[in-house]
Amino acid sequence: MLERVRPDVIPFTRPYITTREHQYLDEVLASGHLQGDGPMTAEATRLVEQISGAARALLTPSCTHALEMATLLLELGAGDEVVVPSFTFSSTAAAVALPGAVPVFADIDPDTLSLDPDSLETCITPRTRAIYVVHYGGVGADMKRILDIAARHDLRIVEDNAHGLGARWYGRALGTFGALATQSFHGTKNVQCGEGGALLVNDPAYLERAEIIREKGTDRSRFLRGQVDKYTWTDIGSSYLPSELQAAVLRSQLESFDEIQRLRHRIWNSYAESLAVWADSTGTRQMHVPAAAEHPAHVYYVLMSTHQAQRELLELMRARGVTGTFHYIPLDSSPAGRRFGRTPYPCMVTQDIAYRLVRLPLYAGMTDADVDRVVDVVSSYRVSPASLVSR
Ligand SMILES: *Cc1c(COP(=O)(O)O)cnc(C)c1O
Repeated sequence: MLERVRPDVIPFTRPYITTREHQYLDEVLASGHLQGDGPMTAEATRLVEQISGAARALLTPSCTHALEMATLLLELGAGDEVVVPSFTFSSTAAAVALPGAVPVFADIDPDTLSLDPDSLETCITPRTRAIYVVHYGGVGADMKRILDIAARHDLRIVEDNAHGLGARWYGRALGTFGALATQSFHGTKNVQCGEGGALLVNDPAYLERAEIIREKGTDRSRFLRGQVDKYTWTDIGSSYLPSELQAAVLRSQLESFDEIQRLRHRIWNSYAESLAVWADSTGTRQMHVPAAAEHPAHVYYVLMSTHQAQRELLELMRARGVTGTFHYIPLDSSPAGRRFGRTPYPCMVTQDIAYRLVRLPLYAGMTDADVDRVVDVVSSYRVSPASLVSR
């Protein structure tokens, strides 16, 4: 059912558009070069590399496509297993399952909601080839332990860093730990171009083949650089490059990165301060960021005491015109997760947290009045008798 658009409703998210998006789009339209890998892509790529600190970035039409490229580059297929957190977007696991590899679902750390190294270790078998780490909300997973486990078992690491552009763990940028990493520029992310993404290539051994797979299996990138005098079909591949129209919007957004991040952090900090007393009084846990993590203010969540309390808060927010939302439905118990994946041990933390988490509106264009209204509505929630007796 379509909800009537109400101007008085605070949405969950809204793109932060400046005047430059229009200017760059006009430039692309006037240039006649609308297909991929033109000057806008080059500039957006440079900015992604600068902000992420990754050795090389390749723009893709989405983070999902970048994850698929990673799976192809690691040559994963039938008989291979990849450890993936159960608490993530479907794409992380779907990209593993696409060529027939098996996503094996591990649990998350209750503190960061990112991959739990202990659970990861219990999922490893002689068939395990890789670990796809997700940094939930851009709060880094324990990469020291995960790197150590990967080294001991000779596993490749891919970071699904969809949330974490610009975030750090012990001072090192997320997206620079894995052999490969992925970013999302989907309309709901901090920096966006509607649909978009990037593959970060940290291990240079994957770079040449990554370019070929992205260009329909051809060596066109080398041709464009003048390294070969004609280009031809040399490998498997697909069309994993966005058009210059998307790159134009992305370039503008990336140029506003510092401003967007400053505005988002201001709202995040405001929620953290203003909701502390209410959280204490209702047995709610506020989003926690360990001292080692510099987060990107991608999400602000609270963990209600019970599933019933989650439903009650979401209903209260909806009734008062503030859009809150839960997040991932655990993949281990999803229909495709059961069909294509394997879950050696129940993901207890994921199953618990998914049904207690509530995300609050967070976007760079929120006014102080919007933030105050969200705080007012959320902090009017009181624990009900029904929420106390449910799990
Ligand atoms: C948004 C998201 C994706 C998918 O990103 P797209 O760019 O829409 O493909 C993948 N993984 C995580 C963790 C995400 O949040």
